[in-house]
Amino acid sequence: MIGYMLKVVKFGGSSLADAAQFKKVEDIIEKDAARRAVVVSAPGKRFSKDNKITDLLYLCYAHVKYGVDYEAVLSLIESRYLEIASGLGLSLDVAGEFAQIRQNIEAGMGEDYLVSRGEYLSAKLMASLLGYDFVDSYGTVFFGYDGEIDKEKTYEALRLAFNSSCGRIVVPGFFGTMPDGKLALMNRGGSDITGALLAAALDADVYENWTDVPGILMADPGIVKDPYPIPQITYDELRELTYMGAKVLHEAAVFPVREAGIPVNIRNTNDPEAQGTFIAESFESEDDAFYITGVTGRKGYTILDVSYENIGQKMGVFREVLKLFEKYGVRIDHLSSGVDAFSVIAQGEALKPHIYALVSEIEEICGRSTVKVSEGISLVACVSRRMVFRPGISGRIFAALGENKVNIRMIAQGAEELTILMGVADADFETTIRILYNSFTQRG
Ligand code: ASP
Repeated sequence: MIGYMLKVVKFGGSSLADAAQFKKVEDIIEKDAARRAVVVSAPGKRFSKDNKITDLLYLCYAHVKYGVDYEAVLSLIESRYLEIASGLGLSLDVAGEFAQIRQNIEAGMGEDYLVSRGEYLSAKLMASLLGYDFVDSYGTVFFGYDGEIDKEKTYEALRLAFNSSCGRIVVPGFFGTMPDGKLALMNRGGSDITGALLAAALDADVYENWTDVPGILMADPGIVKDPYPIPQITYDELRELTYMGAKVLHEAAVFPVREAGIPVNIRNTNDPEAQGTFIAESFESEDDAFYITGVTGRKGYTILDVSYENIGQKMGVFREVLKLFEKYGVRIDHLSSGVDAFSVIAQGEALKPHIYALVSEIEEICGRSTVKVSEGISLVACVSRRMVFRPGISGRIFAALGENKVNIRMIAQGAEELTILMGVADADFETTIRILYNSFTQRG
């Protein structure tokens, strides 16, 4: 049955916030006959001070749990769905669904059940709007006892459900079934994972993830004004960007599609003509508008500079020092070494509670006054798969920062030449990102 082109499309909460947004989604789906499998989140905010349905459902459960009257919150949630249904002229019995929910709350069904109703009802409404079959994630998405997705069981069940449907389905995101039969939620934002699982299960041609942004942006829009979206990014680059703090698709939501060799396309529901961002293993034709793919970073690192004469010649010193970080449970983010010194970089917050003990133990190994601590360091990463082919990128970075009097405290380039990482003072963080973004996006 999976013969012609198939796109799995997932819509986030802001794309489903009200009847008008549902309508936009309907238009998008109707525009392309390949969009035959749909995953939805619960309705999100309609305006900035509004509440997400998921948050209201958590709040409602808190009332249930502490024995406080929950009716006001639940009716508020119900009214959002009633509004959507009536705005779209759907005949779905929303009041009947809520009567059932009330009954189940009284019967003691727990938090995961109640919160899952957000996506459940969203999917019911969407299925009725599109005339697609509703497929419940309860009974088709499965977890193991460890809470991880049981992929084999899930893929099989999703395939079966799709093949026995009319060939067009809507599935609620964010929840699944535990081995003991209980309904369980994923982590927040989990609908992205449901979408990826469905795409992998049905061997989709593409997994379209529709949100309210123009795609993955080249830089944080809170720092750079209207940054360009990235047209194409590889899975490896995405890992680098995510690791260094860019807020994009969650790792767990990328894994099933990456493994299955399915490209992801991040699209904007409010600008459906724009092509958004494609994520894939590699690209046949390189879009080389810019040398770099993205600039990102994080504040609040601490550098420990340890001087030790002839460090390269002394066996075991590194190991002894690194063992101390392990002992105190502090993850090392970067490590570099020179002739008579080496530096360790870790997140300041993680280091803070142990800094005195750690430094004194390092000095027991390396000698008194050998450690210099510099707090308030930002790490900024320039990520690009194209650096391998182009000489002079780092030269350009340093020239741009030098001209703007930004002092670089440390520099490192990954072996696979995907990222150039530099350390600057926290006070220079935003400026550094802006300078790098500007210097690489001015064409020519
Ligand atoms: N509605 C859930 C949340 O707000 C899951 C999702 O949207 O992906 O986290």
